[in-house]
Amino acid sequence: MTTNLLDLDLGGIAAFCGQLGEKRFRATQLFRWIHQRGVADFDQMTDLAKSLREKLKGCAHVSALPVATEQASADGTIKWLFDVGGGNAVETVFIPEDDRGTLCISSQAGCAVGCRFCSTGHQGFSRNLTTGEIVAQLWFAEHQLRQRRGSDERVISNVVMMGMGEPLQNYAALVPALRTMLDDHAYGLSRRRVTVSTSGVVPMMDRLAQDCPVALAVSLHAPSDALRDNLVPLNRKYPLQELLAACRRYLDYAPRDFITFEYCMLDGVNDQPEQARELVALVGGSAAERVPCKFNLIPFNPFPASGLLRSPNAAVTAFARALSDAGIVTTVRKTRGDDIDAACGQLAGDVRDRTRVGERMARLRTIPIVPQP
Ligand code: SF4
Repeated sequence: MTTNLLDLDLGGIAAFCGQLGEKRFRATQLFRWIHQRGVADFDQMTDLAKSLREKLKGCAHVSALPVATEQASADGTIKWLFDVGGGNAVETVFIPEDDRGTLCISSQAGCAVGCRFCSTGHQGFSRNLTTGEIVAQLWFAEHQLRQRRGSDERVISNVVMMGMGEPLQNYAALVPALRTMLDDHAYGLSRRRVTVSTSGVVPMMDRLAQDCPVALAVSLHAPSDALRDNLVPLNRKYPLQELLAACRRYLDYAPRDFITFEYCMLDGVNDQPEQARELVALVGGSAAERVPCKFNLIPFNPFPASGLLRSPNAAVTAFARALSDAGIVTTVRKTRGDDIDAACGQLAGDVRDRTRVGERMARLRTIPIVPQP
């Protein structure tokens, strides 16, 4: 078994080169070839000594993930399905905008959290992705898109860990992947432009603040524990007050001075005017005591298994206005790529469920969600 160098951040490559008797600057050269230039063939790394190239051929490789399918949306969004073996496939989405290129990356094959409104959650969980499999999504997308554009200019300026999986439940693989994204010898992304999205794994939020603070998005989706227990089952372990306290602690280290709260708008479930008022009270009614935050309202992308419906536009607009009137910056997410099922909550990939989450969720579908007062 040889080492996939995509599994290693710069510190890891330096240690690997050290074992081969090579100096650290060789590790930096190697890292730059792989990530800045997208080169996988050691023979093309012409400023590495031939002896090192031969050594590397015997003990290392740089492996892309096989692309199972690629779909392009009319709006320019591209979705790749990557085969990660064992009958599992994960999805990655590129979203071009005028001033940025965002890549939405998966961290797990499936997800064990089981949110009611999430297509991935309904598929159950198979396994964590490795660091190499997380980084390979960026490596492939960046260099593939540069090649198509016939330019060496950077294409991807932002990464959001919002694809399949709960990234903070795959912490050991996530952190070296984030370090590679941020490293100036690799992708050189700004901490402010790399966002980890979590459903609220409180202890890992604290660790991320210490190990690799990047921008944080928290999937909130409900103003009360009673409703959130139902929509985001992890809430039973880490209820709202604990989650908000963790957000405050995170802000001491975060590269941005606010947390983004994601809120998926579900018709008749969490979109009522009194729930907007509850939310304002939850994050701190007055500006002085408020958790510094922005709200991102996400129009739900319905899928049959969920039994849920998208909130009418008027309800979304009224909800956004109620939050804005309370002084909270609120945006409504534009849906992108929904003609190719690439929009938020639609990523499903292929997952060999090992956890029976999928079965449990199929049973849950028959239980109505009752909005809590
Ligand atoms: S919303 Fe995120 S945490 Fe919840 S089931 Fe989907 S992927 Fe998992």
